[in-house]
Amino acid sequence: MRKRLVAGNWKMNTNMQDGYRLLKDILDGVRENELQSCDVHVYAPFTHLKVFSNSLNGSGILLGAQNCHHEASGAYTGEVSAEMLASVPVGGVLLGHSERRQYFGETNEVVGQKVNQALENGLQVIYCFGETLEEREANTHFDVVERQIKEGLGHLTVEQWDNITLAYEPVWAIGTGKTATAEQAQEIHASARNLLGSMVNNEVAEKTRILYGGSVKPNNAGELFGMADIDGGLIGGAALNADSFKGIITA
Ligand code: PEP
Repeated sequence: MRKRLVAGNWKMNTNMQDGYRLLKDILDGVRENELQSCDVHVYAPFTHLKVFSNSLNGSGILLGAQNCHHEASGAYTGEVSAEMLASVPVGGVLLGHSERRQYFGETNEVVGQKVNQALENGLQVIYCFGETLEEREANTHFDVVERQIKEGLGHLTVEQWDNITLAYEPVWAIGTGKTATAEQAQEIHASARNLLGSMVNNEVAEKTRILYGGSVKPNNAGELFGMADIDGGLIGGAALNADSFKGIITA
């Protein structure tokens, strides 16, 4: 039985003060019994991590970053390594988000190297994948997501999969208000799980959580999370409001 997971991706939103207020509201709103049946993660901006790490200590909510560099250290001005994140400490990192792929040219190979850095430093990884609208309209979406998973994660050992969560995020549904139907999401999730079975083994396929992301709101979360292979959500816009984030956790 896979435990549900709801993860908030704050992106480049909130200054320190607003972010702190939002975190407090989330902490006040999420009840301990909810955390028994649903894991909750918050992926905050780098600047917030140290303060948030102190606030979330002992809360049961996992704090993560939204990116890390693919090398361990060195002359990469402005970048942040996985080791730096682990030393804050944070517990996880979001990798391969479509905005990073689209605006910062991240390829499956580079994201795969970031995954290695994260795992070597003991971080949990949420690995994002998903097709663009053009790819879906050209009916290549199954091939695209298969390639993203194989090229980014195909090198991992069975043990390393313990710290990987997948997140299917169709690019056309992110921040657009257009959600994939529960059936559209389910068929991609089922094919990704199938792929894990052939690429790694059946046990990994069964226990790896696959989240759905793309305009999830309290009013559509229940239907999406009710599908057999959807194990929770990666939430953008709705994670910036404590009530709607909480509404999704409750769903
Ligand atoms: C995201 O960016 O990870 C995301 C799912 O955004 P939104 O919920 O706003 O579509």
